[in-house]
Parts: sequence; structure tokens; C-alpha cells
Amino acid sequence: MLRVYNSLTKQVEGFEPLAPGKVSMYVCGPTVYGLLHIGNGRTFMFWDIARRYFEHRGFTVTYVQNFTDIDDKIINRANEEGLSAAEVAEKYTRAYFEDMDAFGVRRATHYPKATEAVSGMIAHIEGLIAKGMAYAVDGDVYFRVKTFPAYGKLSGRTVEDNAAGASGRVDVDARKEDPTDFALWKAAKPGEPSWESPWGLGRPGWHIECSAMVREILGDTIDVHAGGKDLKFPHHENEIAQSEGLTEKPFVRYWMHTGFLNFETEKMSKSLGNVRTTRDVVSVYGAQAVRYFMLQTKYRSDLDFSDEAIRAAEKGLMSLREQLARLEAEATGSAEGEALAVQVREGFNAAMDNDLGTPEAVAHFYVMADELRRKRNEHDPRPAIAEMRHLADRVLGIDLSAPPEVQTIGLDDKTAQLLAILIDVRKEAKAQKNWALADIIRNRLAELDIRIVDQKDGTTTWEVVSKVPV
Ligand code: AMP
Ligand code: ZN
Repeated sequence: MLRVYNSLTKQVEGFEPLAPGKVSMYVCGPTVYGLLHIGNGRTFMFWDIARRYFEHRGFTVTYVQNFTDIDDKIINRANEEGLSAAEVAEKYTRAYFEDMDAFGVRRATHYPKATEAVSGMIAHIEGLIAKGMAYAVDGDVYFRVKTFPAYGKLSGRTVEDNAAGASGRVDVDARKEDPTDFALWKAAKPGEPSWESPWGLGRPGWHIECSAMVREILGDTIDVHAGGKDLKFPHHENEIAQSEGLTEKPFVRYWMHTGFLNFETEKMSKSLGNVRTTRDVVSVYGAQAVRYFMLQTKYRSDLDFSDEAIRAAEKGLMSLREQLARLEAEATGSAEGEALAVQVREGFNAAMDNDLGTPEAVAHFYVMADELRRKRNEHDPRPAIAEMRHLADRVLGIDLSAPPEVQTIGLDDKTAQLLAILIDVRKEAKAQKNWALADIIRNRLAELDIRIVDQKDGTTTWEVVSKVPV
């Protein structure tokens, strides 16, 4: 049986959706004011894989991911770029789809936008006010946290912790009854996009967006709500308060969170400035290598981004593809290979059933490749190889088909000398941490089928490849 870790109970639990055979799933989507970094990419890739696995296990999944298309950061970016907030949101929503398509992330069932769901948010806020759980002051509306005693049940943060944090800040809003109260609706400021509401012109707060959209599209209680672990507090805690406060029903059956992608042990984040965009990373290493690198770590653990680790993952993936292609080409066994295919499937499902254990699922492929090799003189390995390729492709978005044959071709002397100059320039760029320049050199050469390889001993070699399908 499929079991998943629930951040709410802090336990691995049997997975039983509310309606048998159906999974409703909501993942907090991006604020569309810039390109995704590869930490965001990790989170969105993983929840797509979870969804694929639910489908593989026979569930019909409704997967909803929102776009936060109105927010301070979008307004600031609009002013910087000389665009309207709507134009900024549209530009980066388009970029989101380009990047996710290139990274192999499947499309969700629904992509609601905050700006198109404002009436539902207003209705939700009115409901909270009617119950005494929210109050309006000068065109703002706040959630009255003290009316929701379960506040903190997801993150373990108490109202008092929160108050201590809030009162330490200089900008505590004097209009709030209590420093822990959070905004549901913000009165319009001059020049900002705004909507009509019972409290005057204004715009919704961030947290209310998810509560209202979940309810509108999926209902009062959903099966899975996911995001990166930084969203547990305050975002998901506030969502629980808003939703359960209004409906008095459990909001989410399984809260699930991904660990961070770190850069030199620090969370990759725009505010720290230590980001590499998904676009850049996927174009430098290829989507397959990056996915494979990420899948080798448990989704709940933090993972360090490193050039070396991605290169190592790429090598591992190439080797697995080569092993399978060789087995397929050289096997002589003729006995029924169906039992081996069953072993592939059962081992893969066992790994994934255990809280979506992608590292074990991938490791199982290597174990099975050894097993096929051992038995290649008796058993036909082809059904097992077909099964591995099918599972890897369908669930993990990994291509295990035979690699193209690579031939190394020589270069004339002058070209080789020019190449040596470029490699020296790239080395200097890397020494100065000018990754962008180093990547341009690598990518432009790759376009000419010249592959630059950084060796472990610090030297850089090159090869000219011609891709000939096997
Ligand atoms: P944001 O646009 O900042 O709300 O982020 C979009 C999604 O990416 C959220 O689910 C975040 O939790 C997640 N996220 C942000 N930074 C990281 C990171 N360094 N590693 C993994 N996930 C992240
Ligand atoms: Zn959310």
C-alpha cells in the first residue's frame, strides 16, 4: 500500500484519499515576477512526479497549481521594467511554461490565476467576517488569529512565537487588533491594480488566494496540499486557519513538503542572490541529467546543487542506458523473461510506495541491470528492459532508451589551438566565478558538437561528437 509522510501528523501514513480512486491535489504555484530558480524547479518537478505516481497506481488525479499574478514583487518589477503588472505576470507565466516544458514537468489539470479568482476570495473573507473571525479596518481586512485555537498545528509555531517575532519588527501595523493577525485584504495604494470590494478598492492578500481557489475548484477537503517546506509557516498555517475557520471541516488530508535545494549549504533563494535559473541549468546540463541528479535524493531532504554532482548523475544515467542497450543487443537467453519484468515493477512500486522513495526506485534499476546480466544466458531480458523504460518514462520522466553512438572526430591544428584558447578563457571565467560566461562558452561549443569535459583532476578536455543513432 502507498504510504506518505504527512507534515501535519509528522508520520508516514497509509494513503487513502477521501473519494476512493480519486486524488485531489493542490500545489502552491509561483509568484510570476521573474524566472524560476532551480530550487523552485526541484519542487515543481517533484510534485509532478508524485502526481504521476498516483496515476500509475490507478488514481484519477485532479492537479491544481495556482499562479500568484498580483503581489508587491510583481508591482515592483512592473515599475522596473516599464510594464504593467499584468504584462509582467503574463511574461513570466509564459516563461514558467517554457521552462517547465523543457524540464519535463507535465501540465497540471487547472492553473487558476489569483486575479481571476478575486470574487471567490471576497466571498471567503465575508464569510470569515460574518463568523467574527476577521475584521475590517480602514479598507484592510485582517484574520483574527486568536479565534482559531488550532493555529500552529502544522508548523508547531504558536501564536505567542508569532507575536514575539512580529512585535520585534518596526512596522507592526497599529491597525491590527493583535500583532499576529494577518492581512486578508489590503486597501488600494495609488497607482496599484485594485478591485472593488465591500471594504473599498483593494487587493487580496497572498494566503487567501489558495484557500479560496482550493475551495472553488476542489472543495472543502482535499487529499494532498504540497509545496516547499518554507511554505509551512506562515503560508500553509494561514491557509488552514482561513479554510477550517470558515468551513469547520478538515482542509487537507495529507500535507506534504519538499526539502530545499541549497547552494553551498544555503537555501537557494532570490533574496540571498545565490540563484541559478531553471532555464540556465537545464540548458547547460540537460533536463535528464538534472532530473536524475534530483531523484537520487529523498524529496524531503535538502539537496546541495553542485556541478560535480550533476555530472556524476549524468554519468550514472548514461551508464545505465548503455548497460541496458548492451544487454538488449547481446542477450542470448530465450527462456520467458516475464518474471524479471515483474521483479522490476514490484521493486519499483515498493520503493515508491514507501513515501515516494525515488532514490530507492532508481537504485532498483541498477540492481535489476545486474540481475539481467547474471541471467542473460537463460532469460530473455527484453521484457524487463521494456518495463524499466516504461516506468522511468511514465513516472520519473527519465529516458532509459539506448544512447546515441558517439564518435570522436579529430580537428585540424589551427582549430584545436583556437579551442585551447577558449578553454583557457573559460577556466579564467570560472576562477572569477563568472559562471554565465563559462556556460556561454560551453553552450556555444556544444552547438558546434564540441563537448567540453571538466575532468576530476582540474583539467578540461574536449571531444567532437557526431551523433549516430544505434
Ligand atoms: P515561491 O515563488 O518563492 O513561492 O516558490 C515557489 C515554490 O518553490 C514554493 O513551493 C517554494 O516552497 C519552493 N522553493 C523556493 N525555494 C526553494 C528551494 N531553494 N528549494 C526547493 N524549493 C524551493
Ligand atoms: Zn498556497
